[in-house]
Amino acid sequence: MRYFAIMLLLAGCLSGQQLPSDQLGQATIQQYATQALDWERQYLRIDTSNPPGNELASAHWFKQVFDSEGIPNQVLEYKPGRANIIAWVRAANATAKPLILLNHMDVVTSVPARWKVPPFSAQVVDGSLYGRGAQDMKSIGLAQLVVMVMLKREHVPLARDVIFLATADEEVEDEGSDWMVQNHPELVRNAEYLLTEGGENLLQDGKVQYVGIDSAEKSPFWLHITAKGRPGHGSRPIADSAPNELVRALAKLVAYKTELKVLPVTQAFMQAMAPLESGERARCFRNPQGAIHDNACVQMITSDPSLNFLFRNTVSLTMLGGSEQTNVIPGEAWANVDVRLLPGEKPEDFLALMRKVVNEPNVTVEAQEKKFRPANASRLDTPMLAAIRQVSAHYFGDAPVVPRMTSGYTENQIYRELGITSYGFSPYATTAEEGATEHGDNERIRVEEVQRGFRVLYDVVMEISAAK
Ligand SMILES: [Zn+2]
Repeated sequence: MRYFAIMLLLAGCLSGQQLPSDQLGQATIQQYATQALDWERQYLRIDTSNPPGNELASAHWFKQVFDSEGIPNQVLEYKPGRANIIAWVRAANATAKPLILLNHMDVVTSVPARWKVPPFSAQVVDGSLYGRGAQDMKSIGLAQLVVMVMLKREHVPLARDVIFLATADEEVEDEGSDWMVQNHPELVRNAEYLLTEGGENLLQDGKVQYVGIDSAEKSPFWLHITAKGRPGHGSRPIADSAPNELVRALAKLVAYKTELKVLPVTQAFMQAMAPLESGERARCFRNPQGAIHDNACVQMITSDPSLNFLFRNTVSLTMLGGSEQTNVIPGEAWANVDVRLLPGEKPEDFLALMRKVVNEPNVTVEAQEKKFRPANASRLDTPMLAAIRQVSAHYFGDAPVVPRMTSGYTENQIYRELGITSYGFSPYATTAEEGATEHGDNERIRVEEVQRGFRVLYDVVMEISAAK
């Protein structure tokens, strides 16, 4: 205990200054930590597997906590059993626009037979709390709840409103956030910042290696390619049949190398990660602008799927169709292609490029859907990112804070369209093994992280929202 106290003191000295949560005292923090674990176990027991979702149950659970704490809130049931909930801790004299703490309440489905304990039992095994949503993303939602309660109970003078928003259906159609933006834009659009999932703090060999902040996302722009030709019997080949034309078109498509580009987020990501790399890789990481004109670096980037997508619009051939029978040459053959565009790209330009690349008679290239949600990114030179850096230095030592672009999708994209600076940030440190349980079996979080994460988030929220 004594040793622990000395270590804390040292950590405080090293980081040079106190964090807002230090002022609450150890006993108070311990009370919140106990409360966080208790609430998290209750929350994980609510089955919000999507489909069908049933987020109304979890919205009601949040509501009873907010009500008992005297925090104004509103449950928005947009269809039977499906609901969002929004809650507010308001600034008496706001001088800045609100911060939104966003989380989705639904979770993906599970196969209980493959789990060590039932996925909605919230049991602790060997120091880890098991439950569907422990990584994605009930634990972050829970930390956001605890922060709201702390702001209220501690009577923190705020410079901005802090808004809690929990949504339905992120894992399937994202109806919850779409409904919110379409039907109640007035509740969200005025915000300056938003924090939600998408961040990752990798714990390896007992040390956090990096603090990953999702600041940009790519966007799907799926294509449908069709070839037409004369049908016939398989025993009498037709040189320009639909399948043959399709194969020629696709051969050009998969061989085509899209242009390498260095966006600000990629520049920041590569340079922040450079110290964790060695040799030739480190050289490429240190100078990404130079790397895309350097043969060895281009080879390194394009052969590593975790890097390649950061630098270019990507094209993946995924579905193929032709005849139903081996001895029938069909009059039509088709393919679907998963294209992912970088922020700032124009889909019509990319479609025109793909048509030029294919350039086969009787082959058409079309977008699968008329509506395209453009990829977007948030700025990196913001006070919010500075606050995250400052707090991270205290909790995670010299781990670099790394802006990242995700190849997947989070709700950040919807809210960035409203002009809100939106980041994926997790207050938890996660091992690679734990991270891999997201959407998998035995999803879990270590109890010590449940009892610390809310505090990390509280300090970030305070740095950016407390009245100075
Ligand atoms: Zn999620």
